[in-house]
Order: sequence, then C-alpha cells, then structure tokens
Amino acid sequence: MLKPARTFRGGYKFKNFNGQARPVIVENQIPAIVIIPLKQGFGTELKSLVKKGDAVFAGQTIARDDSVVSSPIHSSVNGVVEEVKRINYFKRQTTMVIIRTTNASGEIPRLEGCSPDWARLSNEKIEELIYLSGVSSLDREGIPTRFKSSIIPPEEVKHLIVHGVGSEPYNISLELLLKDKNLLNFLEGVKILKRIMPNSKVHLSLNAQKRNIIEQVTKLTSQLEWLDTYPLEPKYPQGYDEILVPTILNQNFPYGYSAANIGVVILNIQAVLGVYEAVCEGKPFIERIIAICGPSIKDNIHIKVRVGTSLKDILAGRVKTETPVRVVLNSLLTGFQLNDISLPVDRTFSHIVAIPEKREREFLSFMRPGKTRDSYTRAFLAEILPWVKRAPDTNEHGEERPCISCGFCEEVCPVKIIPHLLAKHVQRSLIDETLMNYGIFNCIECGLCSYVCPSKISLMKIIKDGQDKLTMQGCDSTQCILPYFNLKGIEEYRGVTKL
Ligand code: SF4
Ligand code: SF4
Repeated sequence: MLKPARTFRGGYKFKNFNGQARPVIVENQIPAIVIIPLKQGFGTELKSLVKKGDAVFAGQTIARDDSVVSSPIHSSVNGVVEEVKRINYFKRQTTMVIIRTTNASGEIPRLEGCSPDWARLSNEKIEELIYLSGVSSLDREGIPTRFKSSIIPPEEVKHLIVHGVGSEPYNISLELLLKDKNLLNFLEGVKILKRIMPNSKVHLSLNAQKRNIIEQVTKLTSQLEWLDTYPLEPKYPQGYDEILVPTILNQNFPYGYSAANIGVVILNIQAVLGVYEAVCEGKPFIERIIAICGPSIKDNIHIKVRVGTSLKDILAGRVKTETPVRVVLNSLLTGFQLNDISLPVDRTFSHIVAIPEKREREFLSFMRPGKTRDSYTRAFLAEILPWVKRAPDTNEHGEERPCISCGFCEEVCPVKIIPHLLAKHVQRSLIDETLMNYGIFNCIECGLCSYVCPSKISLMKIIKDGQDKLTMQGCDSTQCILPYFNLKGIEEYRGVTKL
C-alpha cells in the first residue's frame, strides 16, 4: 500500500550539487592486483583460508568462519596469492589477502543450488545462498540467516526497511539501480527476504521526488498486503538507521545499538539486488557499483568494480589535475578523507567524491553574491536561483569564531539534542552526567551541526571528544538506554562492534 509522504524534524535538504553521477554505468577494467580486506561490512574479522602462492579463482571463498557473526569473503579475480598481511585500513588494522590477477577473462562459477525459480527452494537453501554469496554482510546489521550472519535469527525480524532515499549531497542514481529488469529483480529480492523473515512487515522507503519509480513500485506491489511503500523527503540524514526507524515505525531507536537489537533490519537497494543475484543467479558478491561524484571528476558516472580494486586504479585518469583535489569516501559530510590511494574498495563502498582543495581566503567573501554556494541561512544568491548548481570546495573562508547563539545547529539536529550547549560544556571541561542528561550519546555523527554553523565551530568533533572523555571516566553509554528497550542479541552486537 502507498503511504502518505513522511519526514522528520530537523535535517537539511541539499540542493543541486555540481557533479552528480549520471545514470550511466561503466565496467572498470579488472586490476592487475586486488587487495581483499578480511573484514567487510557487518561481522567480525576473519582468518585467511589461503596462503602465499595459492592459486585462487574469482568467487572462491578465501575466508569463512561459521562459529562467529560473519559472512564469507571471496577472491574477486582469478590469480595467485602474493601475500597475506595486516595493514592500516581506514584507522583499523585489518588482514588483507593480496592477489595478483593471472587471467582477467573467464566465467565466475555460480553458487551451487541457485535457481531463478526460487520459490521451489527451501528456506535453508535460500539462507545458505545469501550467506555463501557474502551479501549477508551488507548494511549496518547484516542480513539475518541461520548461518550467524547477523545478531538475530530471521524469524525474530519484525520489520524489514528497504531504503532508497538518497539524502546526501551526492547519491547513487535510483533510476540506474532500478532500471529496466533491475526493478523486477529488486522486487523479487524483496519477496525472497520476506520468505526468510516470515514474521516481518516490509517497508519500502523511496525518495518522494522519484514519482515515476514510486508509481511503478506501487503498481507492481499492490497485491502484497505485507508491503507498504513510503515516499520520504530526501532530507539529510534520512538514510541513517536512527532516523528511518522513528520516521517509518514511529518508535524510538536504541542509540548505541543497532536496529537489529529491536528486531528491525534495514537494507539498501544494492543489498536487495545482491540477494536476488545470489539466490536466482548464484553470484558471489564480488562486484560493487560506485558513484564517482564531485566537480573535480572529469566524467561523473557510476562504475562497476571488483572488490579489492585500489582507489589508485579507480581514480587513474578520472580526476581533474589542474588544481589540488580532496577525495572523500562515501559521504561528503562524514566520510573518510582519502590520504592513501593504494587502499582498496570493499563491499560497502558507495561513493567516491572529489572536490577542489582551496585554502586561500577570499577578501570579504561573505559580501559576494555566492551564486554557486550552498547556504543554510539562505543568504546567498543561489538560494533564490534554485536551478544554479552548487560548486562545493574545501574552503572555509576564515577561522572559527565564538558562538553567536543563532540556534541553527539545534534547528537541524535530527535527534533533537542541543549541539551548542553540549559543545560549550565540553570546551569548558564540564565532563559529567549533565552531558548524559543532555543526550550526548544520542549524537549519530551526521555532521550537520558543523555544516550549518556560521561560526565554523567543529561541533560534531567537540561532541565526539566529550563522548570519549565520558567513556574514559568509566561511563557506559549503552547502559542509559537499556531500561527502555527489550533488546535482542546485545552480547553478539558488542562482540562484533567491540563497544
Ligand atoms: S550554529 Fe554555531 S553559532 Fe549558531 S548556535 Fe550553533 S554553535 Fe552557536
Ligand atoms: S549533534 Fe550529532 S546528531 Fe545532532 S546534528 Fe550534530 S552531528 Fe548530527
């Protein structure tokens, strides 16, 4: 059933950023070397089943452990293992299997027992295919199967939320993901998930501006009484689990834990398509679609890459070189700044954004019309010329100034805490239970308060410092929410995330 459009209080709608990826997909060349991290997505890090000198093929399982919460990991190419070693992978020491490609062509073997006629397969077989393909590690809580791929069993799932809202400044194209037969495959994927989670209600949340897609989905699912479609305003950070749960289910989120702890599984569209491909086509999850965005990219498109391809191989020839560039992974607001381009992409990557690196302060920049600037205060010309594209760069045009109590940070905060108040306490070293009472641990690190602050105060970073200091004083952030929720799989979740 199609539900009325919904949204949440706070947040911010990014408008018309320059360098959105066009709905075009190009297959990236298979690289000479892939570097496969043995922790990808949800689950504990695995031990390698292969060693230096072993020959491997694309789709071969190179790490698997059914005794811990995890999903198998595969080689993404035909090749020979050059090395197994630990490296610093985005602030975390992770074991990597480095494989030199020996044969870039050749078929990827299919998982045994897959069938386009999936309705004839047993639940156990379906869950096994999802698990063996590795797609079960996607998103924040993984996909529950009887193979310990998530923290709750499939029958305990009460709600499955699939989201394709796209509220970041740069997003993967929904039109591309659901193009032609992909829409039908996606809906088959949803039905497969419903089959293995029989006690769940399914909620499809889609970008309210994509009316065509919503119409098609509504038409194709009108007979499914267990499925509702929600048009959601593409307001950041609508895609966060902590915001989706209250917006769709009208219930509180257990901050510090995951939605799975309250029986809710949240998946994105690529994960659902991956489920279809695993069960119906037997494809191991060794490729990922990534949007290459931002004004410093020569041609903004989507690419399909093998997991383990280095960012150097992806960016080669794609970045404009006339000016210095900053590359950010996954989210312009909260993603990692890329300093080492030899690192590989894993199953979880969705965006690579490149913007000009500018440090020169413009004289009286605030007095310029700013027709290409994004502005929360609507002070710039771009706000009355909505068709003009915003051109983001890294320039802050000045240093941090004192808080002017404008209240913008409080207005946008999607979890209804007061960032400037928390920051003032932390900056004055008032690290005590007052911060807990102000809900410091409810911060979901969306970065919006820092983005809108006219005084350029790094509010999110200060709040994070406050959280760390409280934790160092022995405060257990998760204990404060326990009396209000009947949480499932707490120990398993702690085991995976090392809370
Ligand atoms: S947005 Fe910045 S200046 Fe305004 S109240 Fe918050 S911290 Fe203060
Ligand atoms: S306080 Fe946290 S949740 Fe609120 S806007 Fe800032 S970063 Fe986002």
